[in-house]
Amino acid sequence: DKARRHRHSHERYEEGQDEQHLRQLMLIRDLQEAVDNGELWMAYQPKVDTTTGRVCQFEALMRWRHPTLGFVPPDEFIGLAERSGNIGLLSDWMLAHVCEQLHHWKRQGHHLSVAINLSASDVIDPGLPMHITELFESYDLTPDQLALEVTESAVMQDVEAATETLMALSQMGLKIAIDDYGTGYSSLAQIKRLPVDELKIDKSFVLKIDTQQEDLTIVRSTIEMGHHLGLKIVAEGVENSASAEILSQLRCDYLQGYWISKPMPADAITGWLDEFKPLHLSTAAI
Ligand code: C2E
Ligand code: MG
Ligand code: MG
Ligand code: MG
Repeated sequence: DKARRHRHSHERYEEGQDEQHLRQLMLIRDLQEAVDNGELWMAYQPKVDTTTGRVCQFEALMRWRHPTLGFVPPDEFIGLAERSGNIGLLSDWMLAHVCEQLHHWKRQGHHLSVAINLSASDVIDPGLPMHITELFESYDLTPDQLALEVTESAVMQDVEAATETLMALSQMGLKIAIDDYGTGYSSLAQIKRLPVDELKIDKSFVLKIDTQQEDLTIVRSTIEMGHHLGLKIVAEGVENSASAEILSQLRCDYLQGYWISKPMPADAITGWLDEFKPLHLSTAAI
């Protein structure tokens, strides 16, 4: 009958929501176990300097294989960890893990540089600069080996506190990039007040730069403005050679994307570097 059908469809609707909610609760509940049980690892994706064609840095990206839910993308669990107040757990593990990995590579004769992603709560943590200083000492690292990526929205949540932390880290010699640039609401004028070295143009503007005139226009003017302000420009989401050529001709400083390499496990990095041939990119202005 009608009332019953109605109730059933209502229940089914709620079921989808419940499932989603349950998954989120499980993920939040299991974050600590993920750290403790070795379910997390870092993948490393290279960035290439367009003037030399060589690899200049890797970005460290977190990965989680949940024992029953399988691979969980960082876009899902990082946000959950942030909103549930658990991101510190992941950030602490990540920082120590990356520094240890850099130390390991150094002992193998590879002096590499890695950029890590910071969350809003990391960037307002007044203890972060000292924490990183201690890790540098423990793992015998130099400031050129670690760089920071932070989104505009993370910084703008508390500009004053974020500026203070970033200023200290910048004075320690760490380079700072604004990640996903172009997706937030801040102006370059606001960003220039921060101790920022690089703009990382969001991949949504880069993915189709070879076919979309509008994206090309946006990226070109971002590169020009950024350069006028003394910033280096990184493009993420470079998926084909046509896009790499265009970006290089626009004088984009660094490229990152599947066309160069997808993020790789740590133990694949030195072998991949040995095989990598410097890219030949044209730099004739267009
Ligand atoms: P992000 O920092 O902007 O990282 C770039 C994302 O684009 C990565 O996704 C990367 O795998 C992907 N990507 C790189 N090249 C290409 C390409 O050519 N095409 C396409 N379609 N995608 C590309 P991923 O690894 O899933 O990470 C998603 C986001 O999760 C990151 O965005 C970052 O905001 C966050 N995240 C990842 N690891 C960490 C971490 O350790 N800490 C924090 N706080 N956030 C992290
Ligand atoms: Mg990033
Ligand atoms: Mg990004
Ligand atoms: Mg992103």
